[in-house]
Amino acid sequence: MKVIVIGAGIVGLATAWWMARDGHEVTVLDEAEQPGSGASFANGAQLSYSYVAPLAEPAILKTLPKYMLDRNGPLRFVPRADPGQWSWLLRFLAACNATAAAHGTASLLRLSFASRDALHAMLAATPMAFDHARNGKLVVQSSVQAMQAAQAQMRLQAALGCEQQALTAAECLALEPGLASIRQRLVGGILTPSEEVGDCHKLCLELARVLTKPAFGATLLSSTRVERLVVESGRLRAVRTSRGDHEAELTVLAAGVGTPTLGRSARVTVPVLALRGYSITAPIRASNCGPRHSITDSARKTVYAPLGAALRVAGFAEIGTTTPTPGRTEALARETEAVFPGACDTAAATTWTGLRPATPTSLPLIGPTRIKGLALNAGQGALGFTLAAGSARLLADLVAGRDPPVDPAPFRP
Ligand SMILES: Cc1cc2nc3c(=O)[nH]c(=O)nc-3n(C[C@H](O)[C@H](O)[C@H](O)COP(=O)(O)OP(=O)(O)OC[C@H]3O[C@@H](n4cnc5c(N)ncnc54)[C@H](O)[C@@H]3O)c2cc1C
Repeated sequence: MKVIVIGAGIVGLATAWWMARDGHEVTVLDEAEQPGSGASFANGAQLSYSYVAPLAEPAILKTLPKYMLDRNGPLRFVPRADPGQWSWLLRFLAACNATAAAHGTASLLRLSFASRDALHAMLAATPMAFDHARNGKLVVQSSVQAMQAAQAQMRLQAALGCEQQALTAAECLALEPGLASIRQRLVGGILTPSEEVGDCHKLCLELARVLTKPAFGATLLSSTRVERLVVESGRLRAVRTSRGDHEAELTVLAAGVGTPTLGRSARVTVPVLALRGYSITAPIRASNCGPRHSITDSARKTVYAPLGAALRVAGFAEIGTTTPTPGRTEALARETEAVFPGACDTAAATTWTGLRPATPTSLPLIGPTRIKGLALNAGQGALGFTLAAGSARLLADLVAGRDPPVDPAPFRP
């Protein structure tokens, strides 16, 4: 059948891959000139299959007020006269309880493991070059309390199939000698050897290349802005774009932070809010003192990923900032020099800011909507690179009437 995918980010392109593989005639629409120009452009590069716990959890309620008041802290909230923002926040606060966090973790872990399998299946069928490596992830902790909480989460996740180890500070330094400069505050860390990294933008470009080959036969229409969805008698009749109307039997809305606006035009409420983040990408020096694994500095909420010849450093989450906050990428560069001094040329770094499409519960929205012919694949938030392949496979299975690899219920729009 004819399928339209709105959005050529990692989620939309992965969706197009699985739909085209099932024999559907796929057209991908995006307003940008190039695929992967939105949140998928220069994200943290982590395929962190074992780090998918929802942002909403009981402990965040204690740290949130402190972070919110600190303009330079890793989390920032700018209140706006936007009912969508306030209803999102209320739903977020309601999800900050142990039961919801445990259920959310279990559902997201199942989806992330399915995503790892789905991405590996895609790469086996259509090899794609995107600086993909399985170099493991070390999450370092700077207080005894934080280390204890991380170990408790590790025990919870062990029961759900995660293979992780708790390391002492000395073991962290033996594994990552480059961390010597933070020796004083290092308490320990959790190592997950199976974690992967990759360049999400390069994968988007590779997917676009593969999709337009005859074997997949998809059409990618760039510089095509979707203005609205035209609904008649409860069914999606057309997708109205800056270049005319497009019709299909199924339209998948995978437009990242653009999803709620387009959803509204079909009277479908999509609780997705933009969480702004920042990254820098700096050339690695030959000094060999940079990270070997991908590293998360938990106290600073900063991630470091060796990506080919560069180090990608990402962090910060801001709600309600309509323009980038000055000084964020400079702060990431300073932080990088403090944690891995001399490892890369931060003066030559390229800088970026992007918007994570986040739901209040961190669970993405995958599946059909109440409008016939309209499905969602959106809201992967801080984990869109990690969850894209599994989310796409899940939607393709639902469309084909196959048994999906995970229970679709927690992700139902
Ligand atoms: C700083 C930062 C670090 C991150 N680090 C990681 C990480 O390490 N690991 C991880 O798994 N995830 C990470 N993420 C999250 C991840 O990048 C996102 O979840 C993911 O890129 C979302 O993909 P998407 O396809 O849904 O959205 P996008 O990539 O934003 O794609 C949506 C597309 O829809 C198009 N669009 C929107 N509206 C319209 C319209 N009206 N008409 C036509 N086209 C439209 C846009 O142009 C865009 O191309 C990070 C995000 C940020 C910001």
